[in-house]
Amino acid sequence: MFDSLSDRLTGVFDGLRGRGALREQDVRDAMREVRIALLEADVALPVVRRFIDAVTEKAIGSEVLKSVTPGQQVVKIVSDELVEMLGGEESVPLELEAKPPVVIMMVGLQGSGKTTSTAKLAKFLKEKHGKKSMMASLDVNRPAAQEQLAVLGEQIECATLPIVAGQQPVDIARRALDAAKLQAADVLLLDTAGRLHVDEALMAEMKAVSSISAPTEVLLVVDSLTGQDAVNVAKSFTEEVPLTGVILTRMDGDARGGAALSMRHVTGKPIKFAGTGEKLDALETFHPKRVADRILGMGDVVSLVEKAAATIKEEDAEALAKRMAKGQFDLNDLRTQLQQMNQMGGLGMLAGMMPGMKKAKAAMANSGMDDKVLVHMDAIIGSMTPKERANPALLNAKRKRRIAAGAGKEVQDVNKLLKMYQEMSRAMKQIKKMGGLKGLAAMFGK
Ligand code: GDP
Repeated sequence: MFDSLSDRLTGVFDGLRGRGALREQDVRDAMREVRIALLEADVALPVVRRFIDAVTEKAIGSEVLKSVTPGQQVVKIVSDELVEMLGGEESVPLELEAKPPVVIMMVGLQGSGKTTSTAKLAKFLKEKHGKKSMMASLDVNRPAAQEQLAVLGEQIECATLPIVAGQQPVDIARRALDAAKLQAADVLLLDTAGRLHVDEALMAEMKAVSSISAPTEVLLVVDSLTGQDAVNVAKSFTEEVPLTGVILTRMDGDARGGAALSMRHVTGKPIKFAGTGEKLDALETFHPKRVADRILGMGDVVSLVEKAAATIKEEDAEALAKRMAKGQFDLNDLRTQLQQMNQMGGLGMLAGMMPGMKKAKAAMANSGMDDKVLVHMDAIIGSMTPKERANPALLNAKRKRRIAAGAGKEVQDVNKLLKMYQEMSRAMKQIKKMGGLKGLAAMFGK
């Protein structure tokens, strides 16, 4: 899903992520590439413009958190805007609380996946919401459309309205309502007729069926592979029938993502579900945040920034950055960093999230270094005196023995810690102006 767009964007951000400082020009250059990537993904032009303007303004105007790199922060801003573009943080649920049978009317063009989606939805409602559905096909245009729904109904063990040859859509809808009530169905799914194009006859039929059945949900089914056409179809439908949402099918084959990314802004309607395959369980609730993560392939960096913002006090990070720049990094500082790493989910977690740290993670695993190490190191530093922490040069053999005993560890472990500290402070003297986690990331990552 969205592979080609994802590859393009990942390429742009890989270039940004490693940088310690980001100039306005870097942001503008990156945004030029993002713009091209979105246009190639067939995202509607006005949507692309809005997106680029919003990201550029935020990226240039924002105060960069001390504990992440500016490149990582830009990834986070882009991710937030993608979520917005896809419809906001939360998925929009179906309205199922109305008096039963809740009528869900499925509309769309022929071949969009409407009948399949109707059955998928009935199955979904049964399994996820415990709702009993009845399905009825009002498609009298396409040969065997009604039979197709009956076959699907058998597969998922969902009742379908018996077929009466020659009956017209509005009459079928009436009969379906009665039957659904009789059978005490919670939900009635109406699979309306498709056409090859949006035309007057189709719209007149939709309106007639809608006024008879008073649907709680009118879901438009569109094929994501048709890109901007899908969005235009949605726009035409919105003008005629009161759509409550969109089901985007064939997302499994959609490498570009233009329909998904433009739909909300062009039509104002939320995407409620994504069809992700031919099988009847291939229907997913559409979660903008998850989809954005998938597109960027960088959910990891985004959550790192979120965690850093939540865990690390900016003043602390700043003070530490200053001390490091002056070469004053001592064991107190190391301890603070170890504690922050622990709060953020430990070494393994951080190693998995930070660019360049995957290799370091493997190395750590090989050398037997795991999250317990953080706790042990903390204990060792904890059994030093404040003077020793501030001036590790004081640590002679006698003091090391005392510290090891106090922490329940061996002198060897104290030496390992000191070695790590020395390596870090050496590296930090070289890396000027790098603060907090950035220093560690550089240590482990490069
Ligand atoms: P309708 O004319 O709109 O009712 O379309 P159908 O429901 O008959 O679907 C047309 C074809 O698209 C069928 O072969 C379906 O299996 C296929 N299809 C529907 N939804 C999806 C989807 O999300 N992914 C894939 N790969 N195929 C789908």
